[in-house]
Amino acid sequence: MRVMVRPRLRIPQIVPAYLTTVGIVGLFLALHGVVSVFGTPRPFSLILLVLLIVTTTITSTSLNLNGNVGITYHIDSAIALSAIPFYGPTAAALLIVISSFTLWLIKPTNRSTWKKTRIQLLFNIGMMSISCATAGVIFNLTQTLLSTYPLLAATLPWIITAITFEFTNGLLLSIILRLQNGKYFNPFNTWKNAVVTTTLNLVINTVGAAFLAYAVTQLGWIGILVFFLPVITSAYAFHSYVKGVETHMANLEQIVDERTKALQHMNKEKSLFLAVLAHDMKSPLTSINLYGQMLQRKPYLAADKPRIVESILDSQQNLLELVNNILDLENLEEGNGMILDCKQFDLTETLDLLADRMDAQASSKSIGLTFTHANSFLPIYGDRSQIRRVFANLVSNAIKYTPQNGSVFVEAQQNNTHITITVRDTGYGIPADAIDTIFDRYSRVEKHRDKAVGTGLGLSITKAIVEAHDGTITVESEENVGTTFTVILPINSA
Ligand code: ADP
Repeated sequence: MRVMVRPRLRIPQIVPAYLTTVGIVGLFLALHGVVSVFGTPRPFSLILLVLLIVTTTITSTSLNLNGNVGITYHIDSAIALSAIPFYGPTAAALLIVISSFTLWLIKPTNRSTWKKTRIQLLFNIGMMSISCATAGVIFNLTQTLLSTYPLLAATLPWIITAITFEFTNGLLLSIILRLQNGKYFNPFNTWKNAVVTTTLNLVINTVGAAFLAYAVTQLGWIGILVFFLPVITSAYAFHSYVKGVETHMANLEQIVDERTKALQHMNKEKSLFLAVLAHDMKSPLTSINLYGQMLQRKPYLAADKPRIVESILDSQQNLLELVNNILDLENLEEGNGMILDCKQFDLTETLDLLADRMDAQASSKSIGLTFTHANSFLPIYGDRSQIRRVFANLVSNAIKYTPQNGSVFVEAQQNNTHITITVRDTGYGIPADAIDTIFDRYSRVEKHRDKAVGTGLGLSITKAIVEAHDGTITVESEENVGTTFTVILPINSA
């Protein structure tokens, strides 16, 4: 048996004379094999050997490890070498020629790669044939030398034969490399680079050839018949293994592909976030800078025009909120819970104050902003500034994602142990395929990017605050109809 690692040859400036010579010498050896087997005592066994080698070639499978090296499960050389003792070295050459030619005929991939031209096919066949014949001569020689030591004569020649076969192959190949780029190529290097495969080849060739030869000489055709079953089943096993490896590799590629895409997506989201962040920070910083310079030149304006100081404080507040959002999210991401400063307070008061604050933003887009609460007092236990942040985010979003002249409604009512607050708008709505991810950080609806600036952080913070108060937040939305966020908070939470 033989596992073969074949470097795929790329020969830009082949030396045709060398390739042709090797090919022709190899073919002559095989021809000699044809002549020598005529009149052999066991023709049927020889025919069976030919059938066996053709069967193994047809059932061979290649595993492509990367672009350059393919592992092919081959036992053809072991079969060819097994013919040496009974039929002679050139009969072995004949068998390997038949196998190489069959391989070329049946494996279209081989035809288009390492044996892509006729001259390469010729060389390859010749090389295998010469290697077999040389190994055969060495076999006969060592066996004669060791004839007085029967045990050694039955084993050692096979080891030497297998080594000779590998070495001759390597040598004939190395000559091409030498002719191609003038460098000396040590055929032992191929062994060093593929120690496991080469050793395995040697073992397969030694053991396989020895056993088969024993079967041929001792049992004749019955001995060979026995080999068909293991040959076919082991070829099938290797074929299944290769299929498994290929599927596994394809799966790995798919996983890597998906991960790369996810990372690219996240990277893009981060870049967008940074761009928006820079934008969001720039405008309040510019106003602080402008108004600050104005007050530096004309300090009396602070008293005459209190709006200037208010603008500075507003801008500072916006920046603080932005920074707080980022810090809070980082904190949550690290697994730290939200720090709450809980007290008993009246939610109606908080919502009314918010209504006043949001009025300017809504009027700038002619949006009607209506706050209603069924109860005049809505007692709640929680962190007032964080709860205020929840509704500031939701109302601000409702205004941002509603076109001019739309409406926003905020309604709050108590039912026994809970307070339910809805923030409803008549805006752009959220597409069904985006609704599940809307509370994820950095998540923004693609279509909204040119409608309003945002960082995609607000809703994830809002959800974290609501959940820290043991509450829930849900969303219902229909595109171009509107969106409703519903927050349910327990009265005695936190
Ligand atoms: P930001 O508004 O800063 O982008 P948010 O986390 O507050 O981030 O919101 C995430 C996304 O959810 C927004 O970008 C927007 O696409 C969508 N969204 C939020 N509120 C609404 C709403 N009321 N109507 C339509 N889309 C909304």
